[in-house]
Amino acid sequence: MRFRLVAGMLLCVAILSVSAPAAEKMPALIIEGQNNHKVWPKTSLMMKKYLEDTGLFSVDIIRTAPNGTDPNFHPPFSKYRVVISNYNGAAWPEATQRDFIKYLKGGGGFVVVHAANNSFGDWKEYNEAIGLGGWGGRNEKSGPYVYFSEQGKVVRDTSAGRGGSHGSQHPFVVIVRDANHPITRGMPSAWLHGKDELYDRLRGPAENMHVLATAYSSPNQRGAGRHEPMLFTVSFGKGRVFHTPMGHADYSQECVGFITTLQRGAEWAATGKVTIKIPSDFPTADKVSRRAFKE
Ligand code: ZN
Repeated sequence: MRFRLVAGMLLCVAILSVSAPAAEKMPALIIEGQNNHKVWPKTSLMMKKYLEDTGLFSVDIIRTAPNGTDPNFHPPFSKYRVVISNYNGAAWPEATQRDFIKYLKGGGGFVVVHAANNSFGDWKEYNEAIGLGGWGGRNEKSGPYVYFSEQGKVVRDTSAGRGGSHGSQHPFVVIVRDANHPITRGMPSAWLHGKDELYDRLRGPAENMHVLATAYSSPNQRGAGRHEPMLFTVSFGKGRVFHTPMGHADYSQECVGFITTLQRGAEWAATGKVTIKIPSDFPTADKVSRRAFKE
């Protein structure tokens, strides 16, 4: 009797110690397969590594067919704590769209990276989830332009015009507008992001949206002359969305600012909290910091 009890306890301990590390990691899913940014297979691998480097996530990558609506694209969203989109392409099948919205509204996490906000200009709920988007036929019917005034006030501008543009690529300063949010807490109030496209004139429903950081889109770089949202969140049902318009190229994604905000944004989208620290090589206001990517 005693032997059986001890053996049983030992078995329990053995099972716990084997299963514990895997159980601690949160499943995450990166979606790719179509994107006008031809670097996408590499940037998906970069983001997978960045997320796995935190020790918090195990990351799957799912790829759609290369062209058109992929009838077989139907990932099991509910298995995942956070979904990251590196996808800018054809509409998903309707059943997949419904399932994705159900996952999000039920409390799922979603991270929108760069051209993922170009997707699905006419999918109403997707645009509510991402807050703002560009291209894809977006215009004043999509919702207001959102930017910050010189006085630091949020402007919702309903004037007519296309949604989405950018000037020439360059390093630019990201200004933190809410230093008390878990994603930005402890971050320098201004930091220099490595060479990237600075998306401007994004527009969308912008409901339940909270801007964490902006960047000035300078007319000297053919920009809009506005302080554009660069890091923001959207609450969508019970779901949490983190949106970064940064990340155009592999070199843009080597920026430690991009890496850290992706990691922290994904953790926040998954859990509502952030435990990942600001690393010691985080960029400063006048110095870009890059980590050369190695697989
Ligand atoms: Zn781009």
